[in-house]
Amino acid sequence: MNFIPYGKQSIDQSDISAVVATLQSDFLTTGPKVKEFEEAIADYCKVKYCVAVANGTAALHLASLCLLSKGDKVLTTPNSFLATSNAILYVGAKPIFIDIAKDGNIDLDLCIKALEEDSSIKAIYGVHFSGNPLNQEKLKYIKERFNIVILEDCAHSIGAQDNGIIAASCTNSDCSILSFHPVKHLTTAEGGAITTNSQEIYEKLLVLRAHGMVKTPDMKPWEYEMRELGFNYRITDIQCALGVSQLKKLDGFIDRRKEIAQNYDKAFKNSFIKPLYTFNGKSSYHLYVVQVDFSSLSISKEELFVKMREKNIGLQLHYIPINKQPYYVSLGYGQENTPVMDKYYEECFSLPMYPKLTNDEQEYVIKTLFEVLK
Ligand SMILES: *Cc1c(COP(=O)(O)O)cnc(C)c1O
Repeated sequence: MNFIPYGKQSIDQSDISAVVATLQSDFLTTGPKVKEFEEAIADYCKVKYCVAVANGTAALHLASLCLLSKGDKVLTTPNSFLATSNAILYVGAKPIFIDIAKDGNIDLDLCIKALEEDSSIKAIYGVHFSGNPLNQEKLKYIKERFNIVILEDCAHSIGAQDNGIIAASCTNSDCSILSFHPVKHLTTAEGGAITTNSQEIYEKLLVLRAHGMVKTPDMKPWEYEMRELGFNYRITDIQCALGVSQLKKLDGFIDRRKEIAQNYDKAFKNSFIKPLYTFNGKSSYHLYVVQVDFSSLSISKEELFVKMREKNIGLQLHYIPINKQPYYVSLGYGQENTPVMDKYYEECFSLPMYPKLTNDEQEYVIKTLFEVLK
């Protein structure tokens, strides 16, 4: 059995041909493919604007520059990749870590409580963890009642829907971000995007992506003006050619992920291996997370990871609580009251989940997991 990682890309001949065609074209970067990809993403996510950038972290950084000011208090989740809260720090704002709910997402009821108690809170940065979308009813309620900034980190959730609201449509938020890293639903190798329905934010993002540089029709032919401090966060035409090709297959990828989730659910039914949530058609299943009460077993989580690796299966842990990372502890974090997150971190791990995982490979993963845990 070849090594089975927790996630990986699905590339076929049509992707390869699309990339080769761009290599043979006049544009390697910032050509027609960037625009085509942005429009295709906006169309898919039912949102007005999309700006594609170098990676998901750059997307978070630029969104933060548009949405936050220095010193702003921002509610966010400890259960995410580091980039989500790092992007709050990048602009000198202050993350406040809120405990998660049982489904792994930030607990929006606790957010409401925090907002009631502290009217100086400016924003929520939420993550649609594992592909399971945040409750849009609650986001709408929060937006209307407290009039704060909302960012949705949809790095896990392109294609997910809650109540007919598709992820990254920004129906109840100011911006959403996407990532096209190879473990995510579709890939551009490195790559990311910001979506928004605000023309003002869209225009600002375009300027910030390219050094803060502005060129208008009334300027002399050689002229450009730098009006604010921007970056080179451009994505290439080569990457976007891959993205356009991948996006055409996204619905098929998500259907396959849902099949895999249902197979796992069936295998773990009535066992001591508990799916984070039983089959949820809203989720686009970036991850398949299970929880096991290790205190009732003779094996530790560390032993489990090592033994599965020996059997050529890569488990992963999503995520170590961000607020407990040494850098965050050095800033005074780490002592938050997050009992659900703490228990989750003790018990959780992610199983292989990607469209190219075959049924045989999945059966091998399930069989091996039961053997090793017993
Ligand atoms: C992958 C990921 C990111 C960052 O995306 P990159 O493209 O790797 O920079 C941000 N947030 C979450 C939740 C992610 O999973």
